[in-house]
Amino acid sequence: MIIAIDGTTSSGKGTLAKRLAKHYGLPHLDTGLLYRAVAKAAMDAGVELKDEDACVRLAAGVRLEPFDERELRSSGVGAAASVVASLPAVRRALFELQRNFAQQEGGALLDGRDIGTVIAPHADVKLWVDAAVEERARRRFLELSGIGENVTEAGVLEQLKERDARDAARKDAPMKPADDAVWIDTTTMTPEECLARALEVVETRRR
Ligand code: C5P
Repeated sequence: MIIAIDGTTSSGKGTLAKRLAKHYGLPHLDTGLLYRAVAKAAMDAGVELKDEDACVRLAAGVRLEPFDERELRSSGVGAAASVVASLPAVRRALFELQRNFAQQEGGALLDGRDIGTVIAPHADVKLWVDAAVEERARRRFLELSGIGENVTEAGVLEQLKERDARDAARKDAPMKPADDAVWIDTTTMTPEECLARALEVVETRRR
């Protein structure tokens, strides 16, 4: 079984992906981390984020192990990731790794922005996870201030809106729900309710 989870930043898709993968014993790839790793590598090397050739070289051999995951998950790296993710050649360089992960024997679960539309259009289950932007900003603010980032909720809201707009507007593989994705709006849901809803969807598909 291949499960594709796409959605907006801080919608709860990451938490849902982890829990759902654990429930079904599926290997899980958080594809956002790949774009974050490319962005961090570019930042560390002093490479311009819009320098497509240089970023492609970094994407071609990308590995997650050298990076500290907390650093990769910072807001600065997230914003930089959305810039390198708008470069078509970078997306092409990361395609095969993601496609191979999706097609491994025994199935897989991937989460990102274009899993149901581009990476695994034949996934057995596709979920689109979203929430009101103010609620996402509130969650992200709590998360970032929890790890010691000096942020305000209003600032986080602005950044989220900017990131959503960039991800949705890019020409290549824009963030969007697949036509056959099931929508989960987590605005008023707890993570447990969100998992319960997703399990209902998966079990219905399996039947
Ligand atoms: O999900 P996360 O916030 O870690 O993703 C960081 C950025 O990477 C996103 O804002 C998006 O621009 C990019 N991304 C993407 N396609 C994916 C996963 C992430 O373009 N499948």
